[in-house]
This record gives sequence, structure tokens and C-alpha cells, in this order.
Amino acid sequence: MRYVVHAHAHADQINGGEVFQNDRALIVANDRAFEPIFGELLPTAVPDSVLDRDMKITLGGADVLLHRVSSSHSNSMTMVLYPKYEALQCSDVCRNMTLPYNDFLDFYYFDWIKTLDWVATHDVDIIDVGQYELTTRKERATLRVYLTDLNRKILDMVRQGQSWDQLYRSTQSTDEVKS
Ligand SMILES: [Zn+2]
Repeated sequence: MRYVVHAHAHADQINGGEVFQNDRALIVANDRAFEPIFGELLPTAVPDSVLDRDMKITLGGADVLLHRVSSSHSNSMTMVLYPKYEALQCSDVCRNMTLPYNDFLDFYYFDWIKTLDWVATHDVDIIDVGQYELTTRKERATLRVYLTDLNRKILDMVRQGQSWDQLYRSTQSTDEVKS
């Protein structure tokens, strides 16, 4: 294995990365990954190579493009695009059939929408989310509609003076995202 990309600095994504680093893989991450890796003492490899916005890796003659769009699900989120295979690694952000992480542990709403819009500008057939089912273009579009509707509904309820408890109880998921 030549490269390991820390798609974002969450424990479930990158813990144990030192196993690959010890086996001489080059660990790549967005430079914003250092803060959570050291701040949260994540048991993983410290990146060997970092990107701020873009980096290109070549594997077997094919380009692999790493790109930071925005924060979305993590400040250190990196999209991994394989143009030759029309495939994209959209780790955790492009989740399908469910509201992604309803605890909103690490959540940047407007950046999330911006990232989904960036994905829509790429002609990719395969969208891998990292640890779930592959996402279709239609599901990515559905998620964007759901997130924007949800934001509008919650803002309306907040402006009507509803408490957090009321908001939580009166917000419903649509069929497409409630599994
Ligand atoms: Zn994550």
C-alpha cells in the first residue's frame, strides 16, 4: 500500500493508521487534521504529507485528485476523486437513505450544502461514503433537498419561539431519509 488518505480526522475514520504508516504507506491528510489528531490524542498516524486545497496522486498511471471543498462533516474533510473511474470518495458527507448523523457532532450546515453542490458538478457514477452503501446521484440530490428543507423548517420554528425540546419532537424525517 503506497498511500492512505485520512479523509477526515474522526476516530472511526483514521484510528489505527499507524499500522499502514509502519508498513511504509504515505499518510496524506488535509492540514486541518493536525488539530484534532493532537487535540483529541487520536491513536493514529500523524500525516506525512498535507494539502490545504488540492493534491494529485498518481496510482497505476491514473490520477487521484484530493480536494478540500469546505468543512461539511469535519473541518479536515477531503474529497477523493478518481476521474478515470468516474468515482468519488465522499466520506460520510454523501450518506444516503438517512439524515447524516442526527447528533450533528461535527456539522457545518452551509458548508455541507456547498459540498453536495460541488459533488453535483462532477460526472461520477460511483459515490462511496466510506463505511456504508454506495450513494446514487438521485440520493445525493434528495439529501440536499432534505437538508435545505430541514433548515428552513427549523428556522421557522425557532422564530415562532419553540424550545429545543419542541423542535426535536416536531421535526419529521421524510421517507427517503428516515431509515
Ligand atoms: Zn466522520
